[in-house]
Amino acid sequence: NGASTVELPDGIPSVIPGWFSEISPMWPGEAHSLKVEKILFQGKSDYQNVIVFQSATYGKVLVLDGVIQLTERDECAYQEMIVHLPLSSIPNPRKVLVIGGGDGGVLREVSRYASVEKIDICEIDKMVVDVSKQYFPNVAVGYDDPRVSLHIGDGVAFLKAVPEGTYDAVIVDSSDPIGPAQELFEKPFFQSVAKALRPGGVVCTQAESIWLHMHIIEEIVSNCRQIFKGSVNYAWTTVPTYPSGVIGFMLCSTEGPPVDFKHPINPIDADDGHVKTNGPLKFYNSEIHSAAFCLPSFARKVIDSK
Ligand code: SAM
Repeated sequence: NGASTVELPDGIPSVIPGWFSEISPMWPGEAHSLKVEKILFQGKSDYQNVIVFQSATYGKVLVLDGVIQLTERDECAYQEMIVHLPLSSIPNPRKVLVIGGGDGGVLREVSRYASVEKIDICEIDKMVVDVSKQYFPNVAVGYDDPRVSLHIGDGVAFLKAVPEGTYDAVIVDSSDPIGPAQELFEKPFFQSVAKALRPGGVVCTQAESIWLHMHIIEEIVSNCRQIFKGSVNYAWTTVPTYPSGVIGFMLCSTEGPPVDFKHPINPIDADDGHVKTNGPLKFYNSEIHSAAFCLPSFARKVIDSK
């Protein structure tokens, strides 16, 4: 159609002129591409390459080390599910810890709970925080909540220093296990999360794709079953711009008051009791909450067998 294609600067993977292509050894042989209208930011922090571009159809896009982290159009699916699957499963979340999540979207969703008194976030890369505040104000709005305390550092080290039983909930909004997030998928980290949670406390982690990463999921489930003596569950949802169009979540609780993740007892989409900050929910509701735990047979076989 003769539309001009953006010349992409070096370092931005592209197989089609003017398109960003998400090429990674974590999904060999496939690459999701988005048409680029304008590169808005390009930088290299101490930890990763950071790019923000205006896409033709998904709004602005945040990319870390060549991997799409969020787009304005579909970030609601991920941020709402990774927060409301755990927090609407316990009666009164008060103290919440976010590991990663530097864009602020998870904070935006946690701040919807009137019962929450304190939200700690430990993000390793200050550049992600700064870039998100500048280019994704509707996502970084989470930082405006006075209950939020931002710690710039490695989540592994942060958790080692947390006193036992401190948090009601931990949300691990990490990038993939290549680069700074690698240790956030390993057993010692999950052990430190369990220690930091109160009895009956809950954790929800970004847990990759059942189409691409069953080997990673298998190991995470096996480790979680050894560590979390409450319950261990895998849920999933659709996020069009994540590889294979889906993303999963590990949902675990520590021994103590039982937690039934599949039936939310503190539904955030109910009319009462929750603050209505940051506008209406765009994706999450109680039905999609319960449906998130319904797995295809090939995945259920692996996950239930661990
Ligand atoms: N929704 C995205 C996904 O599913 O891949 C994740 C988004 S969020 C931007 C991921 C964040 O984890 C990044 O800001 C990254 O800097 C942060 N991160 C990676 N490793 C970390 C670590 N060891 N400690 C704290 N934050 C970390």
